[in-house]
Amino acid sequence: MSLLTVGSVAFDAIETPFGKTDKIIGGAGTYIALSSSFFMKEQRIVAVVGDDFPQEMIDTLVSRGVNTDGLQIKKGEKTFFWSGKYHNDMNSRDTLVTELNVLEHFDPIIPENYQDTEYLMLGNLSPQVQRSVIERLEKRPKLVAMDTMNFWMEIALDELKKTMSMVDVLIINDEEARQLSKEYSLVKAAKVIRAMGPKILIIKKGEHGALLFHGDKVFFAPALPLEEVFDPTGAGDTFAGGFMGYIAATDDYSFDNMKRAIIAGSALASFCVEKFGTDRLTEISKKELEDRIDQFISLTAFEMVVPA
Ligand code: AMP
Repeated sequence: MSLLTVGSVAFDAIETPFGKTDKIIGGAGTYIALSSSFFMKEQRIVAVVGDDFPQEMIDTLVSRGVNTDGLQIKKGEKTFFWSGKYHNDMNSRDTLVTELNVLEHFDPIIPENYQDTEYLMLGNLSPQVQRSVIERLEKRPKLVAMDTMNFWMEIALDELKKTMSMVDVLIINDEEARQLSKEYSLVKAAKVIRAMGPKILIIKKGEHGALLFHGDKVFFAPALPLEEVFDPTGAGDTFAGGFMGYIAATDDYSFDNMKRAIIAGSALASFCVEKFGTDRLTEISKKELEDRIDQFISLTAFEMVVPA
């Protein structure tokens, strides 16, 4: 099976109640590809960086099976930079700086050897760029999933709606779902958003888990209760990468398999928040991941008999 990820590959500077980082590696595309690599031994990426981006991270992606033919490196230009500060609850944050740099004029090029892509994960990027990737694939992938954020709702709502009308799965957080639908109830929000195009909607609720709306069915997955959340940056992208990586690796996008994929994404996201940036994601073993998935299973499994 083939999976293509499109998304920002970036520098981030993060401030949490636990500390502060200088420029570290981040970006939606980076988190998605690292996360999906736990399930997909080969995958592809379309993204852009400046020549200030460290070769070591590109080597890390390659060593994890990511084909980087679609990663453009722009000479003399600067990589996208984002900076954010988390509030004490770690569930909400303020964006302090967004410097688009190379992303401002990003023209995604799809290498010929990516044309047979079956699963497409459109990570957070401008909706125009996300759409041009769908349009430049000669054959529509089996499943197209998309992430976005409030930034694009504020500056490019019409473009966002056009792109949304072309995808199968939308993955957003609760705050974004409310902003997009103008509905407070997430059930009502899901109705409004699904009428805009995506048949399947996943609403992430941070430490409160995630909801999947699929046909007339709904599934809820908890988040693992963690003693300490160090840095939530990239948790949403890690979730999306684990979700799509699992779907692509199993080549099954039925409701039942999407439930498993959501647990896979949630398990990987629970690791991501344990250290700053991508640090934790690059050190997890298969055994640790399996143990954590088991924790998820036992977290919600119970038997019950109603007394007579
Ligand atoms: P998340 O915490 O999952 O929402 O994703 C955080 C990542 O998104 C960071 O690593 C940023 O580099 C990236 N990011 C933030 N703003 C944007 C944006 N406007 N476009 C693309 N990527 C962004």
